[in-house]
Amino acid sequence: MLELFCPDLYIENIYKLDLNYLKKKNIRGILIDIDNTLLPWNSADIDNKLINWVNLCKEEGFLLCIISNNTASRIRVCANKLGIPAVSGHYKPLKRAFKEGLNILGTKPEETAAIGDQIFTDILGAKRSGLFAILVKPIGDKEFFGTKIIRKFEGLILKYMERKNLIFLNRY
Ligand SMILES: [Mg+2]
Repeated sequence: MLELFCPDLYIENIYKLDLNYLKKKNIRGILIDIDNTLLPWNSADIDNKLINWVNLCKEEGFLLCIISNNTASRIRVCANKLGIPAVSGHYKPLKRAFKEGLNILGTKPEETAAIGDQIFTDILGAKRSGLFAILVKPIGDKEFFGTKIIRKFEGLILKYMERKNLIFLNRY
């Protein structure tokens, strides 16, 4: 049961992601969350650092797709600015959101990673879908009020997994 909440990799933020490590794991697709993973919650302020990171992933041969539970119009704006496709309207951790992302990328689950900042949506959905699950620390503490409540439980699970040596921050 716990393994469904346990990320395969736990990193500070997307900029700490070692693309060569993913290549060695034969991963070529990345499904990525937007709120508090790529951008602060509900923000559409895309800076050069983020654009450069997305471009680097593309140059290294990775296919990217945004998967978000947030409103479709804002997701579309961000996806267009970054030049990558997006899935919205299906709710993580439901498998459908991830399945649609896989269809867009044309990759198999075992060659695809999912990156997100929430255990109960991003990580649970990724693990259920057979993807390589990557947890990042949330960019900010601003978020949907429902998420704030869930964070308390998330914090407990994270602490438990750390105590049991199941996860290590920034360790490949
Ligand atoms: Mg998020």
